[in-house]
Amino acid sequence: MNDQLHPWQWDEPTWRGHVGRVRAGRPLRPSSWPGGARVAVALSFDSDHETPALRDGEVLPGKLAQGEYGARVGVPRILRLLERFSAPATFFMPAVSALLHDGEVKSYVDGGHEVALHGWIHERNTSLAPEAERDLAFRAADTLERLAGTRPVGIRTPSWDFSAATLAITRELGLAYDSSLMADDDCYELLADGEPTGVVELPVEWIRDDAPYFMMERFASLRPYTPPRGVLSIWRDEFDAAHAEGGLFQLTLHPHIIGHRSRMAVLTELLEHISGHDVWFATHAQVVAHVLAEQEAP
Ligand SMILES: [Zn+2]
Repeated sequence: MNDQLHPWQWDEPTWRGHVGRVRAGRPLRPSSWPGGARVAVALSFDSDHETPALRDGEVLPGKLAQGEYGARVGVPRILRLLERFSAPATFFMPAVSALLHDGEVKSYVDGGHEVALHGWIHERNTSLAPEAERDLAFRAADTLERLAGTRPVGIRTPSWDFSAATLAITRELGLAYDSSLMADDDCYELLADGEPTGVVELPVEWIRDDAPYFMMERFASLRPYTPPRGVLSIWRDEFDAAHAEGGLFQLTLHPHIIGHRSRMAVLTELLEHISGHDVWFATHAQVVAHVLAEQEAP
């Protein structure tokens, strides 16, 4: 390997090696969804709350209050909305967030939802040594298991920041799936250096994430504000195409972002639109179990 050279000086084994380290394997779009549904709808909420601020060492009340809103106001609104549509969802939660908000994990479990891994304190995996990433992942799994009563079966890396060590740690944790990568609209198996891993990727996309449309930074030039109804039209088009293809529609939302009134209004309209179709609302774990079961069926 000649990684010290500029990329344009790399030989073929070098650039092939980089690309091949973590790669999409067999596609896992099933021929049918449970109950004869036309499309699977996998809603996810990353209950980060205060942890991205804490991870950056931001310990003053302003940023922390913005995160606290997610737990105090966003989560109860979201749970009521999901109950109205009988829609099980997946909550990816950093362990520190789960420890800060006593009872929140239990409220997810009691509502019939899945709780899955999202780091210890929303750490940036690519800036950690592999041992540190591994230690935090195992501590997070132990913490969520204690609070939820069952061990998590899936992971979403914080900020979708997938390091060179992440896939090996995911396999060592015995997880069924990851939900951090973007090589398809539908599920696929992850390959490690060309070899099948048995780990399913349930892919995400910034298009189907609330953060890039709504986040702002007071003292920076970050103002990419999209009106909520503009976002609704994007997500409705994403859903309609998933429905037409018979595939998967997945959303990544954050209680401290989507939980505000004008944004919950469009999430409600989106779910009203979706529920007018023949859909299967499922957790990420349920989608993964279904696509695997169908592969194994004779
Ligand atoms: Zn997050």
